[in-house]
Amino acid sequence: MIHYKSAEEIEKMRKAALVVSKTLGEVARLLKPGVTGLELDRIAEECIRDHGATPAFLGMYDFPNTLCISPNTEVVHGIPNKKPFKDGDIVSVDCGAILDGYFGDHAYTFEVGDVAPETRQLLKVTKECLEKGIAATRVGNRISDIGFAIQEHAEKHGYGVVRELVGHGLGTKLHEEPQIPNYGKRGRGKKIKNGLTIAIEPMINMGTEKIKQLNDGWTILTGDDKPSAHFEHDVAVVNDEPVILSTFDYIYEALGQK
Ligand code: MG
Ligand code: MG
Repeated sequence: MIHYKSAEEIEKMRKAALVVSKTLGEVARLLKPGVTGLELDRIAEECIRDHGATPAFLGMYDFPNTLCISPNTEVVHGIPNKKPFKDGDIVSVDCGAILDGYFGDHAYTFEVGDVAPETRQLLKVTKECLEKGIAATRVGNRISDIGFAIQEHAEKHGYGVVRELVGHGLGTKLHEEPQIPNYGKRGRGKKIKNGLTIAIEPMINMGTEKIKQLNDGWTILTGDDKPSAHFEHDVAVVNDEPVILSTFDYIYEALGQK
């Protein structure tokens, strides 16, 4: 069952999302060649707790850390480790926090130093996919219109849309109904209604849509060892329109991009 949220609940979700946004801003400030995923993870946990929130991923389904850190050919669910990032890497960082009983959950794929132009293009298009998915999250549409918008844009650029992992409803649980696939046909699934709160998170591969999993039981990689990108926002439907609860502004500020 979908739990449609009241205005008060959506405000709580915005506060939880902002803790994650600020944490990703800290990650943006620190992520440079030579830094390790475990270092980012420690700073992220500190940042979340400093805001009176709790890391959402730590311990969930036995995940060992605060951040999922997935460099280069890793799609999502990478476990932070001691291997330093290097010039030319891309690094997907997914972060969740619980504040006052509500979850924030969003993600950004960062560039480390000088990244190859075709990889930068993948990041740009994946972020555009997220924007198109958000724009489709309005009353008058159905759930599958979100995935349709994402898939159409990704495939126009020859990229693969991961099928096995999807966006999701968000609220007092990290994963609520409905599932939000990043692919689909127009006009299928439930009608989008006011009070819907979801995490939209395109996972777009430069090559094949196929994935594989490392034997750590977590890390998802591309099937052809080409790069993958992941951007995620928390979105509520208010007055028939999408409202983005999370923000990349702290990231842009840290990177001097705005
Ligand atoms: Mg996430
Ligand atoms: Mg999510």
